[in-house]
Amino acid sequence: MRHDPHQYDYEPEEEVGWCKECGEKCVITNVDNGIGPYEFWGQKGRHIDIQTVSSCCEGDFFEYDPSE
Ligand SMILES: [Zn+2]
Repeated sequence: MRHDPHQYDYEPEEEVGWCKECGEKCVITNVDNGIGPYEFWGQKGRHIDIQTVSSCCEGDFFEYDPSE
C-alpha cells in the first residue's frame, strides 16, 4: 500500500483581518495579556487574558475589508 504524504498536507486555516493600525490585511493572532503566575494570600494562580489582535501591529482590526 502506497502512502502519499501529500495527501494529508493542508494549509492550517488562518483567520485574516484588516489592521486598523496600518490598514494592511493581516493574520489574526492570539496574545496573552495576562499577568501570568501570581500568588495572593498563599493562593497560587495564573492570570490569563487572551486577546485577539492583528499579527503585524498587535492592534485592533476589522474582520472585513473596510474598503469593500
Ligand atoms: Zn498592522
